Amino acid sequence: MHECQLAFIGGSSTLSINIPEDLNLPFVKVLEENLRYETPWGMSPEFKLISINAAEGERSVLTCRMHGWRSGVSRADASRQVFWVLKQAGVKRVVVEGGVGAINHLLNLRDVVIPHDYIDYSVRKDVGLDDHYLLIMRDSICPVMSLKLTKIFENNWEGRVFNRGVYVNTDGRHFESPAEINVYRMNGGDIVGQSICPEVYLAREIGACYAGVYMVVNYAEGIIAPWQHEDLADIFYNESKAMGKLIFNFLQQIDLQSTCSCKDLRKETLLKDIY
Ligand SMILES: [Zn+2]
Repeated sequence: MHECQLAFIGGSSTLSINIPEDLNLPFVKVLEENLRYETPWGMSPEFKLISINAAEGERSVLTCRMHGWRSGVSRADASRQVFWVLKQAGVKRVVVEGGVGAINHLLNLRDVVIPHDYIDYSVRKDVGLDDHYLLIMRDSICPVMSLKLTKIFENNWEGRVFNRGVYVNTDGRHFESPAEINVYRMNGGDIVGQSICPEVYLAREIGACYAGVYMVVNYAEGIIAPWQHEDLADIFYNESKAMGKLIFNFLQQIDLQSTCSCKDLRKETLLKDIY
């Protein structure tokens, strides 16, 4: 497998276009596509290996679509397949994007949130690659990557950009009930989605930094106004290129040497005798 420092996990905001070809970025080229790997949890989703011309030379990026989700594969297994591949490739930084619902009533459609924390309301708790590590979820979202994402989006995104917020993760596939959203709101959630967990745990487990950009594509149930399917579709189709382009600007510009404490928040487990 090709050694690769960076990964981009695409979500709903870039699903409607072919990444990176449809972006027509002169500094990006596809080296290999339709890459699939046998993992302990079944055959992985398709990856592309992409080369980006950065200041120090070429850097390579592994990408996959829609968090690796596809029918017939549980989301827990899809995430494990994706991160198993990233681990084999030696990926050290993972950037993701996704569409989210607004819980915080100050948010508008098309606002972008770069959350600093999350609350996991899913029941997919026991999702890991192995049992070697104790995972500390302090600063679970890389502060260095988040700062860089914030700068790029603040200068280029046409909507508003928030550099902190709490992402509430639910299981899906259905959306949430108004009563559930009310509980999440009272508990401090700002946005709701279904992808940050278990990805954030798996990133920590492989010793990689993890950060994400999330576009508000609907108001959560009971917040502002009932969401409209047309709005959702409209946002997905119209904002994909802008989102994809800024993600690739990030991948080109992020300092591969920058220091943060992410990788030190993974410790050898003390429960070795049990496992
Ligand atoms: Zn980090």
